[in-house]
Amino acid sequence: MQVVAGVDLGGTAVNYTLVNREEQFLIEGLCEHPALAKQGPEVCLRQIEDGLKIAAEKSDVLFSEIVAVGLDTPGPASAAGLLSAKGSTNFVHPKWAGFDIREGLAQRLGKPVSYLNDGNAGALWGHFTIFGAHGKETSVSVVIGTGLGGGVILDGNVVKGRKGFGGELGHVLIPYQSIVGIGGLTPECNCGRTGDLESLCSLTAIEKSFLPFFLPRYPGHDLGKLGDLHHAAKLVRGLADKGDVLCREIFRVQAHALGLFFDEMVNTFDPDALLVGGGALETSPEFQSWFLEEIRKGMPTQREEQADIPIYLMPNGDTAGARGAAIEALKLARQGGLA
Ligand SMILES: [Zn+2]
Repeated sequence: MQVVAGVDLGGTAVNYTLVNREEQFLIEGLCEHPALAKQGPEVCLRQIEDGLKIAAEKSDVLFSEIVAVGLDTPGPASAAGLLSAKGSTNFVHPKWAGFDIREGLAQRLGKPVSYLNDGNAGALWGHFTIFGAHGKETSVSVVIGTGLGGGVILDGNVVKGRKGFGGELGHVLIPYQSIVGIGGLTPECNCGRTGDLESLCSLTAIEKSFLPFFLPRYPGHDLGKLGDLHHAAKLVRGLADKGDVLCREIFRVQAHALGLFFDEMVNTFDPDALLVGGGALETSPEFQSWFLEEIRKGMPTQREEQADIPIYLMPNGDTAGARGAAIEALKLARQGGLA
C-alpha cells in the first residue's frame, strides 16, 4: 500500500492525517502530537517525525509506505516553504528566521515534502470536499476566526503567489461604506489598512470595531455591563445564534461585508463555488443558513449567468489543515512533482 501523509504544524500541536491513492482518509478525527516549534527547527522536526511514526503505527501503515508528505504551517512563508526572515508569531526561535522548513522536513524524513500555508491548506480541503482532487474547478474559501484566512483554488490548483501571499483574502479592501447601518464606523485592521475584509469579518473586528460602535446604540445591553470587550466579543456568536438583536446585527454586517468581497471574487474568477467556514459558524444549522442567506443579500446584483453561484459551508475545521496538506502532496505525487 502507498499512502501520503498530511502534517499540520500549529502553534501548540502537530496534527496528522494519512490518505491513500483512492483519496480515502485513514485517520477519522484528530491525531495530535505536541508541537515544539518554540525550541527551534531541530527539536521541532524531530518531534514531527516521532509523531508521524505514531500516526502511521496507529493506522497500520508502515513508515516506508508513506511515499510523500504534505506540510502546512502558519505564515508568513514563501510558496516553497521558506519561513520569513523577519520571523513570525509561531516561529520565534532565532534559528527559524529564513529557515527552509519544507526542505528541512524532507531531509529529516527522507521523503519528498510539499508545502502550503495553513490558510491555503484549509481552502484546498474545503475545495476537495466538493470537487475531489482530480477536478479543474475554481473556488474561493473564507475562514472566519480570530482573523480571516482562506484561499483561492484556480482550475484545481492552489494560488500561492509570487512571494507566498496568494490567497491572503483578509487584507483585500472592500467598499464597506455601502453596508447599511454602520455609517461613521472606521474599521481598522491589525495590518494597518482601513476597511479590508478582516477589519469587518473576524472575532478581532467584533472586539475592536463592532462592540465599540454598537454598544452605545443599545444602552443597557448585557455585553456593555461586562466592561471587558475581549470577553464580550467571544460571547457575540452564541448570543447571535440565540437571536439577540445587537449580536445578530453584528453578524448581518459581517455577512454583508462577505457578500461585497465574494462579489469581487465572482467578477475576478467567475468561480464554481464560494465557501465559508471557521469558528464564527460553529453554530446551529438555522443560524448557518440565515448567515449564508445574508451573504447573498449583501452581494450586489449578479449577472443572470452567475447569480446561481453556490455558497457552501466548509466542513471539519480541526482537521482541515492536515487534510488539505495531504491533498496537495497527493496531487503533486500524481503529477510526478514529488519524485
Ligand atoms: Zn488587514
